[in-house]
Amino acid sequence: MGEAKRRRTLVAPQLSKMVSTEIGESHCPFCGHVLQLATSLHGSTPAPGCVAICYSCANPLVFEDSMRMRAMTPTEFAALPDAALATVHGYQQRVRQRDRRRLADG
Ligand SMILES: [Zn+2]
Repeated sequence: MGEAKRRRTLVAPQLSKMVSTEIGESHCPFCGHVLQLATSLHGSTPAPGCVAICYSCANPLVFEDSMRMRAMTPTEFAALPDAALATVHGYQQRVRQRDRRRLADG
């Protein structure tokens, strides 16, 4: 079994509570990536005001009332409670690990 395949196998059980919700079409204000799904690794669904991470660039976003995504402001980021900040960093780390795996896998 290749290293990349083994790593994916080890990660899979942690994703058992993964839930994806269709959110219409929105563009990441940082990288322009088209966002159509919001995925939670902990079984929650998005609502206005919820924090999200761009699947492409890992920058922090916020759901507007219309459920479109906007950039999180530096003030909002600074005001995140420690637990929320830890969650944001965890999701950003997952996106960056995925990018590293893609580079390593060629
Ligand atoms: Zn982005």
